[in-house]
This record gives sequence, C-alpha cells and structure tokens, in this order.
Amino acid sequence: KAKNPHEPEFIQAVDEVARDILPFEEENPAYKGEKFFTRMIEPERVFIFRVPWTDDKGNFHINRGFRVQMNSAIGPYKGGLRFHPSVNLSILKFLAFEQVFKNSLTTLPLGGGKGGADFDPKGKSDNEVMRFCQSFMTELAKYIGSNADVPAGDIGVGSREIGYLFGQYKRIKGEYTGVLTGKGLSYGGSLIRSEATGYGNVYFSLNMLERNKIEVEGKVCTVSGSGNVAQYTAQKLIELGAKVVTLSDSGGTIYDKDGIDEEKLAYVMEVKNERRGRIKEYIDKYPSAEFRAGARPWEVACDLAYPSATQNELDGKDAAVLVKNGCKGVFEGANMPCTPEAIDIFRDNKLLYAPGKASNAGGVATSGLEMSQNSLRMSWTREEVDDRLKVIMGNIHEQCVIYGKDGNDGYIDYLKGANIAGFVKVADAMMAQGLV
Ligand code: NDP
Repeated sequence: KAKNPHEPEFIQAVDEVARDILPFEEENPAYKGEKFFTRMIEPERVFIFRVPWTDDKGNFHINRGFRVQMNSAIGPYKGGLRFHPSVNLSILKFLAFEQVFKNSLTTLPLGGGKGGADFDPKGKSDNEVMRFCQSFMTELAKYIGSNADVPAGDIGVGSREIGYLFGQYKRIKGEYTGVLTGKGLSYGGSLIRSEATGYGNVYFSLNMLERNKIEVEGKVCTVSGSGNVAQYTAQKLIELGAKVVTLSDSGGTIYDKDGIDEEKLAYVMEVKNERRGRIKEYIDKYPSAEFRAGARPWEVACDLAYPSATQNELDGKDAAVLVKNGCKGVFEGANMPCTPEAIDIFRDNKLLYAPGKASNAGGVATSGLEMSQNSLRMSWTREEVDDRLKVIMGNIHEQCVIYGKDGNDGYIDYLKGANIAGFVKVADAMMAQGLV
C-alpha cells in the first residue's frame, strides 16, 4: 500500500488474493521462504507511452497507452487491451495481476499481462478508431510478439479494433504471426473466441449448479452489461432454457419480465455491435419492457446473477438485496465486478459464488487455443473448440473444488480455491527458474 498509494483497484485485487495466499504460505513454508507472493505483486515490467492521433476534423489528440507485463513464469504474457476513459495504471495492474491467476488456472502455458489506453472509442468514426489503433500499435509493437506477449480484446476493444491493430503490427514487423487473439475468422481467428467468455462462464456455473443439484432450466437470470461477455452469456442461458430478464450499459438497465428470447437478443446485438447504440433502444422495439435509467440490474429478483459489465458494479448493498430476493448463485463474467463487501455477504450466506478469475477464464483459454491453431497453421471446427472450452472450464472447476474446501459442510469457497490453485502452479514454475 505504501508503494502504490494511488492504485486502489490494484490494492483491492492484491488484498483479495492475499487473504487466501498468506495463510497458505504460512502452512507451506517452502513458498513463504522464497517470497513468491511479494514477487508476484511486482510487475516484471510496465510500459507507458504517448499515443498521438488526429480526428476527422484534423484536430490533434494525445492519449496515454500502457502495457503491464506482470508474470511470464509459465508462458508468454497474455491478456487483453482495454480502451476506456477510466483506464489508468491501477486498473491495468489489477487486471494484469488477476490475469496471472486466471491464465494459470486454464492449464495452458500462458503468463499474465494487460494493457490499453484512456481512449474512448464511443462516438468516434471508424477512421478515427483506425488512426488511433495504428498510432497505439506503432509503439506497442516494440514490446509484443507471438512468443513474448500476445494481447487480445477487452472493454472497448472488439473485432474492429483487433483488425486495425493486427494490420498495423504486420505492416511494421513484416511478419504474419499470431501476435493478437480475437482476430477475425478470415485472418487467423478462432471459431468460438467471440462467444468464449460468456459461454465459458455459463459452463462454469453449470458445473457448480450440478454439484448442488440445481437445474438451470427455467431459472430467472439477471445479466449486467450488453457487450461481448453479456451477449454470449445471455445467448447460452437462453439456449439452455433459462429466463434472462435484464441487460444493461452505463446508461441504465432494461428489465423484460417476459424474458429476452433469441430474437430480442439478436436485436440487442444489432444495436450494440452494428449501430454502436445504447441499451435503452430496446424499449423502442419492445415497449412492454422497462428501462431503468442509471440503475443496475441487481434489484430485480432472480435465481442466478451474471455480472458481466465492469469492476465494482455489484456492492454490499446489491449483494444484500440479491440474498433477500433468494438468489442462489452469482457468477462473474466481468473482472472483479463484486466488491469485497459483496463477496463477504455471499460467503456468509453460503451462496454459490464464482470469482471471475475462474469463471471468465474461457475467453483467455480460447485465445490460447487460437494461438495453438495459429502455430499449427490450422483451424479447428466450432465443435472442437467448444468441446475443448467445456473441458477446460470443467478442469478449472475441479481445481477450485480441490483447493476451495471450506469447513465440514461441503461448502466450496471458489475464490479461495481459484487463488490457491492459480498461485501454486506459478510459484512452482518460479521456484524452478530461480530468483528472477
Ligand atoms: P465490452 O466493451 O464488449 O462491453 C462492456 C459492457 O460493460 C458494456 O455494456 C458497457 O456499457 C458496460 N460498462 C463498461 N464500463 C462500465 C461502467 N463503468 N459502468 C457501467 N457499465 C459499464 O466489454 P466485454 O464484454 O469484453 O468485457 C466486460 C467485462 O468482462 C470486463 O470486466 C472485462 O474485463 C471482462 N472480460 C472480458 C473478456 C473478453 O473475452 N471480452 C474476457 C474476460 C473478462 P457502455 O457501452 O455504456 O460502456
């Protein structure tokens, strides 16, 4: 805390992991002696750079670009790029730190990193976004590579941005490699990558529900966000017969008591992906639904909740409302959407709670599968990738169960399980590689 006084999100993420790892290190002195946790909270390196670009009217703009290379003990750095006005070093260090544990849990050889810029793609023309991406990559290209550091998308970085970034990297380096994931299918992308985070979170929740003999069919589900993760979470839940009643964005929440079906979701995808519109446009087409300006979905009574927008979007008050309304499980699609107070309430009330570093790892896992396909110069079928994704989510679940046993009542603390399982693999690799 003394070293990073202006990094609240990073401190929050480290605190959350420390509470499980420090007691574990006490019980396992081999880990404690080599100060793995202390080493793991210091990034291997951080790049901060200027990103100059011009808008369509010829005005000059300067943004700040970042890449945090957190840990490469088990593989090349891997983690998304976020373009959002709120981006700063604290947020990217928190995301990179979480990514180390998440990537370790996937069972794939992936280190952890994260990057981005305080650039807001909202309201920008395609040409402006392209010029920004080209300028950003002109600097970033110096630090990444298919065997060194492989970025992907995150908030504000979707297939359009990945395309522009990839084109510029290729132009600078003169080589065609799998340096980015989340690419389009025509130039090295993987089937199921777009769906992977949302689908993966639902697969993870199915493992948890099955263990507790709860059926997903017919359950009322609240989903927050309406971007990549939210859309495919909703899609898989609908396919499985659940009733999804909310989606949201930073403007507010739509509540459709009749349930969002496939047709309604297709409309949301058109509004958000093709027109880059706002979620409130939903009620223009489906007036029986309700738009709650500025509200989050958590006051809507539900059986299962899937926070899939952004960090700290579900606080202690929201958690208390969820518990009061009889919610049975909360499954994080976003990174750190639940505050520490909310997590305490879930733990105290023995709610099923899936931490993002485990439950949203399907995205990066499928990115790992995209890297494998690029190296093989092959493409796997949709079924092949989806099957591998299901197996990986099952393995992550298994690791959480092994390390997350809490007390004698069979309750699994998935957060503790994910933290310890993720930590052990990275610490073992660091131990083997000496003091680096
Ligand atoms: P998108 O940019 O596609 O969508 C983000 C969604 O969250 C939008 O609906 C956005 O609304 C909303 N949102 C963003 N910031 C805020 C905010 N401050 N308050 C309220 N709503 C907000 O991003 P993704 O779907 O890719 O990412 C969502 C979350 O999932 C993030 O936490 C990301 O780190 C995490 N994640 C994503 C992975 C992926 O594969 N894409 C992998 C693992 C985790 P608006 O349009 O109004 O900004």
